[in-house]
Amino acid sequence: MNSSEVRKLMAMNRVFKTVKERQLKNISRIPDFEERLKRLKKVREEYVGDSELMNAAVENLMNNGFTVRFAEDGSKALELILEEIGDEKLIVKSKSNLTKEINLTQELLRRGIEVVETDIGDRLIQLLEEDPSHPTGPASHVSVNQIFNELKKFKSDLKPDPYSIIEFLLEDIKKSIEKARVGITGANAITGEGSVLILHNEGNIFEIIRRTEKIIIVAGIDKFYPNLEEAVNSAKIQTFYATGNPVPSFMEIISGVSKTADIEKKLYTGVHEPKEAVVILLDNGRKYLMENGFKELFHCIGCGNCVINCPAYGVHGKDFKGGRFALYSALYSNSSDLRLCLSCRRCKKNCPVDIDIPGMISKVREGNEVYNFLYSHARWLVKAFYLQTILLWWQISGNVK
Ligand code: SF4
Ligand code: SF4
Repeated sequence: MNSSEVRKLMAMNRVFKTVKERQLKNISRIPDFEERLKRLKKVREEYVGDSELMNAAVENLMNNGFTVRFAEDGSKALELILEEIGDEKLIVKSKSNLTKEINLTQELLRRGIEVVETDIGDRLIQLLEEDPSHPTGPASHVSVNQIFNELKKFKSDLKPDPYSIIEFLLEDIKKSIEKARVGITGANAITGEGSVLILHNEGNIFEIIRRTEKIIIVAGIDKFYPNLEEAVNSAKIQTFYATGNPVPSFMEIISGVSKTADIEKKLYTGVHEPKEAVVILLDNGRKYLMENGFKELFHCIGCGNCVINCPAYGVHGKDFKGGRFALYSALYSNSSDLRLCLSCRRCKKNCPVDIDIPGMISKVREGNEVYNFLYSHARWLVKAFYLQTILLWWQISGNVK
């Protein structure tokens, strides 16, 4: 591990500490928190993988004016997205873990389609060519100094402070949103009534919906909720765990395209933007995993609390992506070394829906569990000692930034 990787780990751990402090400070602002958690857990257990709910929701999505298309895997999703994009050469995109799962941005870039991420953190790591470190805080691992050093080539008068960097990124994002005709986003929930719920903190989704002619929403088949109330409950809990804030900054509820029936009750669609709204429902192994002992994995609401509380992620970084994301990346791309899991169960304890990640990791990883326990702890101790030694050396030599 070189010094830049150590600095990234330190920056990431600082951000995670801030989120945990904010959670502690704000939990009293949600007085019915425990009851909300129980509701969420029950809803996820009952409705994830429920084909009746999915069929009813799809019918309602179509009644509301969405085009709904199914993709069994990433390559089919890409094919459908390319069909929907048509001849467009610029796409504005917002945060979506699902599109990362199918490597959508890289696949579109390879086909000569420019993809501009519109979330500040995502645009930042796109320009820095970094991997995201947290599902909702993708740039948690990069410090202001590192960002400044790498972005100053794009803007000569950039300053090494967060405001100057954000202004630069915003200018770049806004220009692309104004030009693009198609936007792609993920979804936090799809409801039985046929609505799509999307959370965001920066207002970028609002801009995409308002300014692009077509919006393509890519969602997993695990995103269904029986109704809007339960989807909002999930969104509130996700926000709390992901950011420490009691409410999200913005919550878009999209129930089809813009429409009016103001004149003689005749329906006119496409009044404002978007004129077209497409939902692409992606399986990508979900149904198979749900039916083969991993249904619980899809109860996940993507809050990232398992990640920020995972001691293995805190020292190993990208080699072990932490909690649910380590398991998921091992199942999907073999990019996390599951032997590094310490079996400490902190992810389960900190999960709002109580998902047994360590139990599933034990099922998946190879080898004897006693050996894995000793191996993971030995690797953790060596790495933690190494990090502490470097940190101490930097403090002594005045090299901490
Ligand atoms: S059990 Fe494994 S994945 Fe969960 S917090 Fe501990 S080290 Fe991380
Ligand atoms: S496994 Fe639990 S803690 Fe981790 S992201 Fe999913 S819901 Fe959040």
